[in-house]
Amino acid sequence: MQAVCSNCSAPLTGEYCSACGQRRTHGRLTLGALLADVSRRVLHFDKAFAVTFWRMLREPGRLVPDYLAGRRARILDPIHYLTASVFLQVGVASFTHFVAPVVGRLSAVGWLGRLGGVMAIKVLIIFGMGLLWRLLFRPLRYNLAEIYVFAMYAFGTTGILWAVLPLVDLLVPYPLGADPMTVLLVTLGIEIAYGTYAIWQFGNIPIWWCAMRVAAVLGAGYALLIGVVGPGYLSNMLLPEHLVSR
Ligand SMILES: [Zn+2]
Repeated sequence: MQAVCSNCSAPLTGEYCSACGQRRTHGRLTLGALLADVSRRVLHFDKAFAVTFWRMLREPGRLVPDYLAGRRARILDPIHYLTASVFLQVGVASFTHFVAPVVGRLSAVGWLGRLGGVMAIKVLIIFGMGLLWRLLFRPLRYNLAEIYVFAMYAFGTTGILWAVLPLVDLLVPYPLGADPMTVLLVTLGIEIAYGTYAIWQFGNIPIWWCAMRVAAVLGAGYALLIGVVGPGYLSNMLLPEHLVSR
């Protein structure tokens, strides 16, 4: 009897169904097979996440065109990468909330306002900035969807860089995050610096021209966001309440 796909009943010729793409199932699930599957996926995910982050630091101008050209096997796709970045930020935030009081370094909590965030706001920011970029500057080679792919990779990487800050605060002998203005300037500085670097590589345009565009898009973008969600919400996101009232 010919093997058929257990999902759609199409005849199977290999390890994957040619009609629906589901992988061939091998009889009843065992604990060993389940554990092997979980560890394989987690390891693959971790490795792909690390590779994607490293390449976004080293060569964002090559990773994104690679993805757009279909060379995707070793990297995470932009949506997975962004989601993983948010999960990592939330993980760091919980860790810091737990550890900061224990080691007496409450300033580390000051960085957490920028971490995690509400996913909806993140998405709003990313797609708003991408659209603004497209509206403000005539793109030479990329369409809006391709700009969004770049924006998701770049925002994911910025979030990971931000997640390092509270950990540094916990380790060094100075309470870096105690001053809300420092937090704002450092996080914004990282966003502008990394954004300029990544777009400079990706867009192949002069770096000073890049920095001016990034400043214009971020300025207009955050101003628009304040108009949409209100200054109270945004300042709360940037400067958590317990720091302002102290
Ligand atoms: Zn099938």
